[in-house]
Amino acid sequence: MAGVRRPGTPVPASNGWLTPTGDPFAARVTPGAFRAFRIRAPTYGFPVETVELLPCLHMFRFTVGQAYLWDDAGSLTLVDCGPPGSAPAIAAALRERGHEPEAVRSLVLTHCHADHSGSAAEIRAWGATVIAHRLEAPVLRGASPQQRPVLTDWERPLFDQVTRGMPDVPPQRLKYPVPVDEEVDAGDVLDFGGGARVVPVPGHTDGSIALHLPRADVLFTGDTLAGAEGRPMLGVFNTDRDRLVDSVRSLADLGADVLCFGHGDPVLDGGGAALRTLRGEVAV
Ligand SMILES: [Zn+2]
Repeated sequence: MAGVRRPGTPVPASNGWLTPTGDPFAARVTPGAFRAFRIRAPTYGFPVETVELLPCLHMFRFTVGQAYLWDDAGSLTLVDCGPPGSAPAIAAALRERGHEPEAVRSLVLTHCHADHSGSAAEIRAWGATVIAHRLEAPVLRGASPQQRPVLTDWERPLFDQVTRGMPDVPPQRLKYPVPVDEEVDAGDVLDFGGGARVVPVPGHTDGSIALHLPRADVLFTGDTLAGAEGRPMLGVFNTDRDRLVDSVRSLADLGADVLCFGHGDPVLDGGGAALRTLRGEVAV
């Protein structure tokens, strides 16, 4: 992977005030795998943890869910943006790394759920272009209702736990619906990371997308996959599990080495093999 350096010596992830408490996937992973910078952001007790995955790629971890920052020599792209109210924490994290929020050129939303799109309107106000799939855009804009997931029995308590983990944000901070500036579909290539190919992955929601960066060997999966115990697992809270499994099969074909999930620690090596293993395990 020419030109992309792996992270240096891992720094143990001490816990304390910033330990993720609301995200069941984050709670299950082994700490200490990444270089982490902790930002004490004065916003509703809603901290963001910044984790360096590659020199050009950082992860923002919220109390529920994760977002990613791609840095093309100071031109920034966000993939998802956390729950409502997290924009000030993201701004603080950007400044900690020497960026002004206005350097965020694009915000790509993998899907409409609030733990991924909750701060989109505020980040758009910084000047970022908001990008989403054509089927997800009407939901984000409030023109179409959000589909409810079809929960399995084992997902119900997990769903309750995640719902409780969402922050209690003052109403004036909630800025919905989210304007979408650009609608994308299969085959579109976004201008970051050497070219980010849009891969529709219906199942978690109808308009979910993944982003494949072939030159960097990175795949952003949204909630189609999650990370648990160092490997990918099927995403949960899906509107159509059969379609999700088909989508996972298409992602496995990509063979990306680095997998960045909406929940749970990323896989930094061997992602393609891990996905092929998962594909062999799931019923289709
Ligand atoms: Zn979701």
